[in-house]
Amino acid sequence: MAEKKAGEAKAAGNFIQDIIAADLENNKHGGKVLTRFPPEPNGYLHIGHAKSICLNFGLAAKNGGLCNLRFDDTNPSKEEIEYVESIKKDVHWLGFDWGDRQFYASDYFEQFYQYAVQLIRMGKAYVCDLSPEQMRAYRGTLTEPGKESPYRNRTVEENLELFSRMRAGEFPDGSRVLRAKIDMASGNVNMRDPVIYRILKAEHHRTGSRWCIYPMYDFAHCLSDAIEGITHSICTLEFEDHRPLYDWFLDQLETPCHPQQIEFARLNLSYTIMSKRKLLQLVEQGRVSGWDDPRMPTLAGLRRRGYTPEAIRDFCDRIGVAKRDSTVDLALLEHCLREDLNRRARRFMGVLRPLKVVIDNYPEDQVEELEAVNNPEDPAAGKRMVPFSRELYIERDDFMEEPVKKFFRLAPGREVRLRYAYYVTCERVVKDEKTGEITEIHCIYDPQTRGGSSPDGRKVKGTIHWVSAAHARDAEVRLYDRLFTVADPDAAGDGGEFTDFLNPDSLEILSEAKVEPALAEILTAEPFQFERLGYFCADSRDSKADSLVFNRAVTLRDSWAKKVRKSG
Ligand code: ATP
Ligand code: MG
Repeated sequence: MAEKKAGEAKAAGNFIQDIIAADLENNKHGGKVLTRFPPEPNGYLHIGHAKSICLNFGLAAKNGGLCNLRFDDTNPSKEEIEYVESIKKDVHWLGFDWGDRQFYASDYFEQFYQYAVQLIRMGKAYVCDLSPEQMRAYRGTLTEPGKESPYRNRTVEENLELFSRMRAGEFPDGSRVLRAKIDMASGNVNMRDPVIYRILKAEHHRTGSRWCIYPMYDFAHCLSDAIEGITHSICTLEFEDHRPLYDWFLDQLETPCHPQQIEFARLNLSYTIMSKRKLLQLVEQGRVSGWDDPRMPTLAGLRRRGYTPEAIRDFCDRIGVAKRDSTVDLALLEHCLREDLNRRARRFMGVLRPLKVVIDNYPEDQVEELEAVNNPEDPAAGKRMVPFSRELYIERDDFMEEPVKKFFRLAPGREVRLRYAYYVTCERVVKDEKTGEITEIHCIYDPQTRGGSSPDGRKVKGTIHWVSAAHARDAEVRLYDRLFTVADPDAAGDGGEFTDFLNPDSLEILSEAKVEPALAEILTAEPFQFERLGYFCADSRDSKADSLVFNRAVTLRDSWAKKVRKSG
């Protein structure tokens, strides 16, 4: 399979690239570019994170720079090692490498503490004893200024002593905080003496019980960026109002550098939720089988479903980078996968809902090996041999006893082509006496049509796929549909919840599928096409040599391409 390397993608121009190009030209940051991807290890990465990863690593690569992986682990109670490991695996899988620059915000806890002490010494931070409720009341509103805390004018000495006693664990959780002393009347509520440290006696996955005070995100993030020498700190739009605070901290403190925060619109995808909290809820409530359930928008789920890193990077390229929120059509993501797999995936034959066919005039013990094309889009993929014999399976859907209009496949008295094999004509039908269900159909074949064409130029209207009954392998096939029934599951009405919109038909399990024998070798996650049915891959958890399980990634029907053709 030909691969496109990560970072080589179009890396189309965008407003952030323009900023970086101008900075490079003006030799700002000494002509350096260093970005970072800063996940909080409290869940698995999802397709939204992929956008951020492609952007941060992509911009670095395009501009001769580097990108750090930094775990933003300042919140001890929700973070776990499992998430750290999954995040590393997923970033690598997407095709990006952070080299030896894997960092943890928790590695900087001592430095953060010293910076906080520095702020206190400058009279720019104070210990505040207001309760959380009081603090909220003092904060004011968007239209009214806040009120200054009665603890705001504590002396530097008193603050230093109290802060060090906070660190020593002398006070209970939530009883005191350290706040920046900025401006309670600011029009930007983020600037109204924000909390920068809180007391929380919780185990941290890296620092254990060494700390019982933890820095708040706004304080830790800008300092982490500065400590690492980040030049461009790219984040999502909801942090736009936090930028003055980001800059304030860095302006007050003597940090090694002052990174530039730049915001872009996060990815929203129709029929999909992207909040880690909600994804966790689906996992914990057993609504899905885990973070890597193939219906999940997580990278682990998409990978297990059959998505390729190439398709996801292409998707991230195509959606671009904007300053305004919007929602991308899920059909575009599927389109990107089809485009990639159409080029690269090998084709096979598999029958999902089998119906037995007996070819009455075919010799009973004969087996022929017929030649099949592995990928019509890629001659280098070559050919393979497929066994053909007297008893076959075809798709139940490909036969109709009383064919409706425009049904061109098999029906009594009708001739169709068996792909790569022969023309066959249906002679009679066998039914279960009790239920009336068709159990078997009998055909005759035309030996002159080997390979699927007739020397007399006779045409047939339908071509159907098949597998030889004696050679077929049993398989379970899992068909997936959207996890939600509505485009915006987050917009549940009064008293509703996003889980109200879960699609009860998002998973269909077909346990009697029959597939061509070559598929027994596909045990890795290499995606392939079942002709006429879609793109599939072996399930990385459940498929074994003696019990094959395949996931359908997407069907072949491309609603995106159709839409684009129509509107074009
Ligand atoms: P959540 O709100 O679900 O917890 P988060 O944004 O807090 O998600 P982080 O682990 O902090 O999750 O995200 C790491 C990085 O990925 C951040 O820089 C964040 O801006 C970016 N990111 C997260 N979600 C998206 C998204 N939907 N589109 C683009 N970037 C995203
Ligand atoms: Mg976050």
